[in-house]
Amino acid sequence: MTQASKSQKTGDGHKAGQAVPITVANGDGIGPEIMSAVLGILDASGAALAPEFIEIGERAYLSGLSSGISDDAWESLRRTKVFLKAPITTPQGGGYKSLNVTVRKTLGLYANVRPVQAFSPYIKTHFPKMDLVIVRENEEDLYAGIEYRQSDDVYHCIKLITRQGCERIVRYAFEYARANGRKKVTCLSKDNIMKMTDGILHKTFDEVAKEYPQIATDHLIIDIGSARIAASPERFDVIVTSNLYGDIISDIAAEVSGSVGLGASLNLGRECAMFEAIHGSAPDISGKDIANPSGLLLASVSMLVHIGQPEVATRVQNAWSKTLEDGIHTADIFQEGFSSKKVGTQEFAKAIIERLGQSPTRLPRATFATGEKMQMPEARKLERPAEKTLVGLDVYVAKRQTTEPHGADVAESIANALQTVLKQRELPFELKLITNRGVKLWPSGYPETFCCDTWRCRLTASTQSAVNNLDLAALIQAFASANIQFVKTENLYNFDGTAGFSLGQGQ
Ligand code: NAD
Repeated sequence: MTQASKSQKTGDGHKAGQAVPITVANGDGIGPEIMSAVLGILDASGAALAPEFIEIGERAYLSGLSSGISDDAWESLRRTKVFLKAPITTPQGGGYKSLNVTVRKTLGLYANVRPVQAFSPYIKTHFPKMDLVIVRENEEDLYAGIEYRQSDDVYHCIKLITRQGCERIVRYAFEYARANGRKKVTCLSKDNIMKMTDGILHKTFDEVAKEYPQIATDHLIIDIGSARIAASPERFDVIVTSNLYGDIISDIAAEVSGSVGLGASLNLGRECAMFEAIHGSAPDISGKDIANPSGLLLASVSMLVHIGQPEVATRVQNAWSKTLEDGIHTADIFQEGFSSKKVGTQEFAKAIIERLGQSPTRLPRATFATGEKMQMPEARKLERPAEKTLVGLDVYVAKRQTTEPHGADVAESIANALQTVLKQRELPFELKLITNRGVKLWPSGYPETFCCDTWRCRLTASTQSAVNNLDLAALIQAFASANIQFVKTENLYNFDGTAGFSLGQGQ
């Protein structure tokens, strides 16, 4: 990489002119093709970079590393703290954890920022004024990667949401809006159904919003929110949402802006940052030199700003925009009768290099500046922990429906067995409820309800006084002695007198 000439201190304390160490992974599928295009452009642009290459992904998995990454690669990442990463392939089947998720979580990259903008008319879209930024929580939710198989029928995936995770991503979204002159932040959640997990995101959003009265806010349920991103994306400015929803809507947004190949993805934490494209390794077009390198290139532009090389970032972004204006387009954005030339990945990169130093005349002209680096917000400490009272236990009992005609009859037979044990052992619990797949089957269920082989039995303290862990242990031991096949238990708590668990459907 060439050295930048200006003498200026970068945001990370490197002197301009001094090559900044970054970690680079070429990735899988189209990864090496788009990375080579991007590094070629960065090199020609005068970026002062000292790349350290690591091998992650498919080859690392297949060499026996189930994590997909070696200790040496971790060492480089933790030292450089800046990661330019091409997409990788997670092999199908069990035994392989997603490396993307592992890297984000291990390095504490809790904020995923995905700007999506229209470049009309050079990239065809129905929404020429579209210009939104998705701020996605990057570590929690169903991506916490905690899954279980409980029985022949039942598989569980834990949707793990924390108060801190919600607060810092919501604060980040508002801080981002403030720092970037954005006018509105929209929260997307599904708290009409998931009142606790999505509820805490929405509640946190409403609370934090009060500290930013100059920024407009709204909240939409994710279903209609996604539909509106597809049908009227121009109404959005900054969107904050949880991990899975954020992942889905960013593909929708990138696609309606013209191509999934355009989206950049910034993964930011207090110490480290990772820059990548939003798309995957696209095995269907790998090796054909037709992939659009723009997503990774725009991510690298953000990386240059992050490491304090805004002039280079400006040169690259403007040369890219000029290339689009000149009608030089990869296959995914090529418009018959409008584009002047359909090019492959490397020729597209060459066209950008030829335009370094030029600026677009119709698309917006970029001017990045070294500003104050945005602090990554943290959640506040709780003023007072809630008063937590153990009030019962949900016991998941496995029982296959064999002789009983209906689920309600199976629930009745389980209820009888549990109540017999409670009575014989004089345990301080009463059976309140049995559900199957969340629906109440006892007391009184309906024969129409489809049932699987796992039954959630809710046992609550039968006396006024709260129960303790020894009571739970005695309960479990009594069920085990009576050969009741339980596969999972979940403690039930009240917090400041409010139930910390949902009701059964139909309860
Ligand atoms: P994908 O994003 O790789 O591809 C989806 C579609 O978009 C394909 O038709 C592909 O040809 C097209 N496409 C993607 N990038 C393009 C580009 N730059 N230019 C032109 N067309 C492009 O999604 P997928 O097929 O669902 O996933 C393939 C693999 O990528 C999987 O193994 C998945 O786990 C992995 N993946 C990795 C990341 C990452 O590393 N960050 C993200 C998503 C998926």
